[in-house]
Amino acid sequence: MALSRRRFLQFSAGTAAALGVNIFENPLLKKAFADAIKHTPIIWLGTGACTGCSVALLNSLAPRVQDVLLDQVVPGHHTELAFHSTVMAAAGDLAMEAMYAAEEKPFILVVEGSIITKDPRMCEIGEVDDHGITSTEHMDRMGPKAKLVLAVGSCAAFGGVNKANMNPSGSIGVAEYFKQKGITTPVINIPGCAIHPDWFIGTLAAYLLAGPQSIELDEHLRPKMFFSKLIHDNCPLRGHFDAGRFAQHWGDPYCLYKLGCKGPVAHANCPEKKFNSGTNYCLDNRHPCIGCVEPEFPYEGSLFEPPPVYTVTPPAAFPPIHTEQRQNIDFSPTYGALAGIAVGAAGVSMIRKRSAEAKQDLDEKE
Ligand code: SF4
Ligand code: SF4
Repeated sequence: MALSRRRFLQFSAGTAAALGVNIFENPLLKKAFADAIKHTPIIWLGTGACTGCSVALLNSLAPRVQDVLLDQVVPGHHTELAFHSTVMAAAGDLAMEAMYAAEEKPFILVVEGSIITKDPRMCEIGEVDDHGITSTEHMDRMGPKAKLVLAVGSCAAFGGVNKANMNPSGSIGVAEYFKQKGITTPVINIPGCAIHPDWFIGTLAAYLLAGPQSIELDEHLRPKMFFSKLIHDNCPLRGHFDAGRFAQHWGDPYCLYKLGCKGPVAHANCPEKKFNSGTNYCLDNRHPCIGCVEPEFPYEGSLFEPPPVYTVTPPAAFPPIHTEQRQNIDFSPTYGALAGIAVGAAGVSMIRKRSAEAKQDLDEKE
């Protein structure tokens, strides 16, 4: 059970009182309890982003985001959301002062959004001497000072939708930007468009409780605890894939591979976690997985092109993907038209035959 900072202090004071000690008069115990609660400022920098990941996190019900970022996260650890341009009450110079003050302590930098490199003036946060401060200037200043960077959402992790097609803004992810700039601060990618709140809260809690060594990352710097399973291996429609039954049209109740589902190449625990406080996720709603957690997202060409399948756990018997469906009851328009023509032709021939017979009957009677 999570414990709020207030309750932790109450509990500690209560225990001390039971032992006949007043912690507020004993300097050694007072210091020990003060040290037991570690304060970690968080600077949340919104760069090239739609703020969808912030919204996803704000919608978290258990734990509530205010508990995580303002009060409790794990017993003995208190995080303080020092700067977030969209949810903080302060504005203008006051907000920037809060950011600069937090930078002087060991802080965690959360980046939401891609790093815009072609024209950094596309993204400015705050100003100095009447000039906007670009997000790249913030990254260059704060990146080396932060003790950890959490790249939240696919844009911050890999460039996301901002890097689609011709990538006019030159959007890249935080890790790639750090590599170009020679910044060595550790980065953890928490991709998703938008993220699942538990991916962020779980990573933050693991880092605070057990340190960075407790979080095993994959080759794309994603925590394996959330991003190691294939969506496809836990999909409710997997039986249809294995049996070769594929939806041809939206609304068909079969596997969505042929409509572009990226489940066979996307790694995340969406089928177990589900979004909207455990209610549903893309495939529960019969929408293909668009592979939003992968570095290739949003993919070249169309989002709805089937991806090549390389690493799917095979079923015992594996029918070819391109098996024709329902060959004997094909009611496609072309088939229907051909059938109509055939029926029509047969009808004309029958009428002609009957006319000829009727004429012969008449001739014989005459
Ligand atoms: S291809 Fe997509 S819809 Fe089909 S089984 Fe895999 S994850 Fe599910
Ligand atoms: S199911 Fe696919 S598209 Fe949907 S949230 Fe998960 S990884 Fe992203």
